[in-house]
Amino acid sequence: PLGLRMHGVGFGYDERRVLDGFDLSIAPGEHVGLRGPSGAGKSTVVSLASRLWDPDTGSVELTSSTRAEVAISAVDDAALRATLTTVEQDGALFSGTVREAIAGPSTTDAEIEEILTRLGLADAVTPDSHIGEGGLSLSGGQRARLRLAQAVLRRPRILILDEPTADLDEASARQVTDLLGTLPATLLVVSHRHQTLAGMDRVVDIAAPEVYETPTNPRRPRNHA
Ligand code: ADP
Ligand code: ADP
Repeated sequence: PLGLRMHGVGFGYDERRVLDGFDLSIAPGEHVGLRGPSGAGKSTVVSLASRLWDPDTGSVELTSSTRAEVAISAVDDAALRATLTTVEQDGALFSGTVREAIAGPSTTDAEIEEILTRLGLADAVTPDSHIGEGGLSLSGGQRARLRLAQAVLRRPRILILDEPTADLDEASARQVTDLLGTLPATLLVVSHRHQTLAGMDRVVDIAAPEVYETPTNPRRPRNHA
């Protein structure tokens, strides 16, 4: 299995730095939760860890269990895709049958049916159900679970999930959390949900952006002025 290491990562979109000296090491096979307030930079960490783009400073590397670094750069698209899969919060699904939307080249129908059952989707769809344009209309939570099914069926060695249980009721969220717990993959899971984070080996907190004060004009209680 492969792990992931972000070391001394700095990143900003414009002038504004979102991450500064950010460190995160995930051991091969480890399941790590990422939590923090809105705007803290969780989605930015997801994008950098997914090798969507490079950090301004510092490094993002895949690591092997023997600690020798595996030099897979963002340019090695095919190698990277086979290794690392990211499910975004509002990602798209292909239109067509469920099988076309979620199966990989060697996925069997039995595997599709199993994952639909484990994710509580077996009553809603079969491998032959048409979804998307002109097909069944699915709820946001059903679509989120199908995107997760698609990712899991690819058997990535590293799986990065942005809020996989955000649109789900308690029972469905529990099914997703239970499924994640059984995956042999290295996991990075952004979530606000206590139950989902509780299923991880470890939870990392990402701090809110700094609050700037004006040093020349400190706020003091009035009766001390
Ligand atoms: P995610 O972590 O999945 O990106 P968030 O919980 O951060 O989602 O965002 C929820 C909503 O809050 C979004 O509509 C987003 O545009 C908004 N938002 C994000 N960052 C900030 C911020 N710093 N201040 C206010 N609203 C924000
Ligand atoms: P989180 O996921 O924790 O809510 P984000 O990584 O989405 O945090 O955002 C961190 C900060 O970067 C926020 O202030 C957000 O407004 C800003 N930001 C995120 N994406 C972009 C972007 N594409 N362009 C400019 N600013 C962005």
